[in-house]
Amino acid sequence: MEKAAKNQINESLPEAQQPVTDAATFEELNVQPETLKALKKMGFTTPTPIQSRAIAPIMDGRDLIAKAPTGTGKTCAFGIPLIECLNVDMTEVQALVLCPTRELCVQIAEDLRRLTMYRQDVRIAAIYGGQSMNTQIATLKKHPHIVVATPGRLLDHMSRRTIRIDNVYTAVLDEADEMLRMGFIRDVRKILDATPADTQVLMFSATISRDVMDVAWEYQRNAVQIEVQAEGDNRPNIRQIGIRSQGQQRLTDMEKIIDALELKRVIVFANMKSTVRVLGERLRKSGRSCDYLNGDLPQGQRNKVMAGFKKGAFEILVATDVAARGIDVDDVEAVFNYDIPDENEYYLHRIGRTGRARRHGIAITFIGENDEFRMRDIRKYCHADIQMMTVGEDGSLTEVEEQPDEEA
Ligand code: ADP
Ligand code: MG
Repeated sequence: MEKAAKNQINESLPEAQQPVTDAATFEELNVQPETLKALKKMGFTTPTPIQSRAIAPIMDGRDLIAKAPTGTGKTCAFGIPLIECLNVDMTEVQALVLCPTRELCVQIAEDLRRLTMYRQDVRIAAIYGGQSMNTQIATLKKHPHIVVATPGRLLDHMSRRTIRIDNVYTAVLDEADEMLRMGFIRDVRKILDATPADTQVLMFSATISRDVMDVAWEYQRNAVQIEVQAEGDNRPNIRQIGIRSQGQQRLTDMEKIIDALELKRVIVFANMKSTVRVLGERLRKSGRSCDYLNGDLPQGQRNKVMAGFKKGAFEILVATDVAARGIDVDDVEAVFNYDIPDENEYYLHRIGRTGRARRHGIAITFIGENDEFRMRDIRKYCHADIQMMTVGEDGSLTEVEEQPDEEA
């Protein structure tokens, strides 16, 4: 009822109002040093497009509706401003994040905790169905500043008066389309109705469904609208393959594949300078046309190697990410990730070296026993459609069925 006031101002779905500038760095966004430090620790060097566009208007207190597919970095897009704007001296719940599933709820809370790893004063609670009420009541008694919740369970707590949300000044609907589609629309309305009339409402959604629009119309005012594409939507035609292989086996597998596919223009990426050197020397010893690039080589030598690879003087280039940065070669037939890259964005840079030529390129990633977590991250963040395969004795590649990645 309280919300009716908003309707009058909000005649229709708000006009798109893009922020004036997109931030290129987290520093530019005036993020507190503790958060910057945490971002660095998490390996987030630059904001994703949605982060660079959403953070500033959210910090300005604007309502916002963002259409963005999975893996575009939405959690930090709302998480960073939520943390920046907290008044830690207040004991009431100030920010509410609603999401459709308990898994998401746990994940978002974890992500927010990582973002506040250098802030001992911020309290975050996850409230979701399936966990004991008593545990959650104990958590709520500790006065969390931010509550991440599934709608049903939150309402449950509201009706038992174990939580009050009448001081919430920011409400986030994450995966809004999904949440509303799952029949939470009435719950979400009840929750938003219980927040103050001028609560900032942020909606994040992969699609802007009818329900999403309705809720936006009802609860938002003059919202900033943002739309971002999936990373790599305009990516060239790259076949991405994952192979379970580690240690020395990787070299054997790689050589078999190179021979079977008769690859003549290949970049092999490894994470460490020493790996690059050893691998380059090994390949050369086994009679292959190969050279390598790492940061230990003097600049003159590096330039020579780069120029050589560009003009096709040798077939296989082994390189670290940093050393490869300077080479604008993007017409290779295959990229091998001898190691999984340390940074998600390196994966895209690496595989982007192939697939531009007439025929499509392939990117082969070796995945060891301890790489599952990194791999999942890359799949998600890079929207990497990686087909798992095995290498036969003759170097032939055969698809293997794997249980699909659960994260949606
Ligand atoms: P979404 O909610 O849009 O699906 P997430 O917020 O879960 O996306 O982020 C997807 C992945 O990208 C996560 O693994 C996250 O750690 C990573 N990520 C988010 N922001 C950045 C960044 N600025 N730089 C590098 N990785 C990031
Ligand atoms: Mg998300």
